[in-house]
Amino acid sequence: MRDQAEKTDTRIVHAGRESDAYGGGVNPPVHHLSTVIYPSVEKLVTRYDNITPDSRVMTYGTKGSPTSFALEDAVAELEGGFRSISFPSGLAAVAGALMAFLKAGDHLLMTDSVYFPTREFCDSILKRFGVEITYYPPCIGSDIENMIRKNTRVIYTESPGSHTFEVQDIPAISKVAHLHQIKLLMDNTWASPVFFKPFAHGVDVSIQAATKYINGHSDVMLGLVTTTREDWEQLRNCTWQLGQCSGPDDLYLTQRGLRTLGVRMKQHQNNGLQVAEWLKSRPEVRKVLHPALPDDPGHALWKRDFHGAGGLFGIELEPFAPSMVQAMLNRLKLFGMGFSWGGYESLIVPSDVQKDRLSGSWHFEGPLLRLSVGLEDPEDLIQDLEQGLCELAPQAGSLS
Ligand SMILES: *Cc1c(COP(=O)(O)O)cnc(C)c1O
Repeated sequence: MRDQAEKTDTRIVHAGRESDAYGGGVNPPVHHLSTVIYPSVEKLVTRYDNITPDSRVMTYGTKGSPTSFALEDAVAELEGGFRSISFPSGLAAVAGALMAFLKAGDHLLMTDSVYFPTREFCDSILKRFGVEITYYPPCIGSDIENMIRKNTRVIYTESPGSHTFEVQDIPAISKVAHLHQIKLLMDNTWASPVFFKPFAHGVDVSIQAATKYINGHSDVMLGLVTTTREDWEQLRNCTWQLGQCSGPDDLYLTQRGLRTLGVRMKQHQNNGLQVAEWLKSRPEVRKVLHPALPDDPGHALWKRDFHGAGGLFGIELEPFAPSMVQAMLNRLKLFGMGFSWGGYESLIVPSDVQKDRLSGSWHFEGPLLRLSVGLEDPEDLIQDLEQGLCELAPQAGSLS
């Protein structure tokens, strides 16, 4: 760990790089590796003897290389945890983290606002392996204590939820979790390590879908899990036992993307807010779901705990007919329609998540859209949305 006084932007540039080990090069090598050759049979049979939680030693291709260590060490430092390990996608990282800390007979408390494929993993594989799952309302705060059972081992959070943007009270949930020896996991993809420091707020295990902001260029699938020192060996061993590892080209591209995360997040924040504020002024828009807007229900918690907001937020439209909303989306030129987010380019998708949520937790009447505001000029993005929203004008409606 370097100088504790260094600011995040400085760490983003320097964390995880060891030029001396790269022959003086600025960046780590793209190390293609399966086999490690040992100079003697003695060295081969004792290869694990001196491995401590701190060591970064190559023993086999699944167990790390200079390329993976550079990215993992940088992300661990930025998240504020002890060490990170990479997975071949964000969802693999989510699944790996849950498997590392749960076993048959355990109970998991899972936020109802969770990324849908995480929910699917819980309801299929975790359930099949004998884990009980209860979904809780994301804004429950310290009342989560009432849902804890004798066998509750993990509380899982995602803040804000990536479709409905509820901000969770992570410090309050952490306090309850630790009182009952429960591990607190968090999917920190929305904020990235730039805008939320999970370990400073009491998280034990933090997950990043690096596919999104960390890589930032829509060309790599990758995930990372970071833990405290106490939880590191359990996560690392489970990851090794599962055989999870990532390709060197994807690891390299992700650490390359990471070096510009600071400037990108500032631009995503500025552009996102400009577009969100404009949408708020529009009569077609009933609500803007963006925690950095002062009248958002999550604003106070966001302001207390976060250092900023990325470009991902939602809008609830007035209750227009689906055909009108489709016509609006089809008319957009700069906003691409597609899954994922966090790349340099703007995206928009309908948020069809109501069917998956707990009954009674849904408070929207109009259709929801999710915007990932990219690095284009926000005035052009606003113009694109404006010409799309024309489809929702009353005369357009009566024609359709
Ligand atoms: C996309 C996403 C993931 C999964 O990442 P992939 O790399 O696409 O598998 C996990 N959590 C959140 C919040 C996401 O948006």
